[in-house]
Amino acid sequence: MDPIRIAIVGVGKIARDQHIPAIEGNPNFSIGATVSPNHRGPEGIPHFNSLEELIESGPAIDAVALCTPPQVRYDLAALALSKGMHVFLEKPPGATLAEVAALESRAEKVGVTLFASWHSRYAAGVAPARAWLAERTILSAKIVWREDVRVWHPGQDWIWEPGGLGVFDPGINALSIATHIMPRPFFLKEATLSLPANRAAPIAADIEFRDTAGAEIHMDLDWRQTGPQSWDIIVETDAGTLKLSNGGAVLTLPTGTEHNEDLEYPGLYSRFANLIRGGRSDVDIAPLRLVADAFLRGKRDLVEEFHD
Ligand code: NAP
Repeated sequence: MDPIRIAIVGVGKIARDQHIPAIEGNPNFSIGATVSPNHRGPEGIPHFNSLEELIESGPAIDAVALCTPPQVRYDLAALALSKGMHVFLEKPPGATLAEVAALESRAEKVGVTLFASWHSRYAAGVAPARAWLAERTILSAKIVWREDVRVWHPGQDWIWEPGGLGVFDPGINALSIATHIMPRPFFLKEATLSLPANRAAPIAADIEFRDTAGAEIHMDLDWRQTGPQSWDIIVETDAGTLKLSNGGAVLTLPTGTEHNEDLEYPGLYSRFANLIRGGRSDVDIAPLRLVADAFLRGKRDLVEEFHD
């Protein structure tokens, strides 16, 4: 089978750290082009400043990986779909729920693949955690995602703008895991979002969810963490405690701790290739819906200004 010719759109941190190596390591794909207004991709690969320019004068492309900030993703995805290209959306899949729904129905009409990717679901501990929890009664759960924004998002102005999600940019990764491993759906009961006086997006959030059987799930997001960082989900069950730590990479069950090889982006590209070859899409908006509900129902607390 011929490799799928893919263009990487948005040559920023995640494209360089993860997408390029994962695509280069997957024989189902070949990188046909990169697109980014200011930064080039790897040497030797044709580069364009915009997707329009690639479409007008570039090589033939079957698929695009949109690695831009979410605020510009809809227009890029709609253009790619209109040219019959398959589309891989980085997380979060868009800046609003309605634009993702519009893309989903557009992809279906055109007959191409739309993949709303959630990389944390491919972390090593997530699939075994889901399997273990499927047979348990959930008593309660706690999500603690506390990291230092200065370390992980230096100079990313878009993340503080409307649609950039603020602390929910990493927090949605936790929700992508939780919505995947918890055996029952859950929904927001109350939330407090802490907004720096000089920013449009929250720096911290405290959220209470409840699942459909009444189990409480508490979520603590904070970008002001210095020292050790926390990306943990702890679930209390009738058979003991499950802990997923390091963003889903390490699973601890009452029987012991499992360390498996982390293959998030290789896993995403295997899935994308299977979806394309199988003529299917995968668009799960559950994590983005919970974030939207936090903005819809959350109480706002103004906190001190944040400066890089
Ligand atoms: P980033 O470093 O700011 O990179 C985003 C890139 O998008 C920029 O380099 C910019 O290109 C490009 N861009 C902006 N508008 C564009 C347009 N209209 N057409 C083409 N390219 C455009 O951000 P990032 O950290 O890589 O994050 C990007 C997305 O990946 C976000 O949704 C984020 O949540 C997700 N993600 C990030 C990480 C991470 O660790 N950073 C992890 C997982 C997922 P120029 O530089 O050329 O101007």
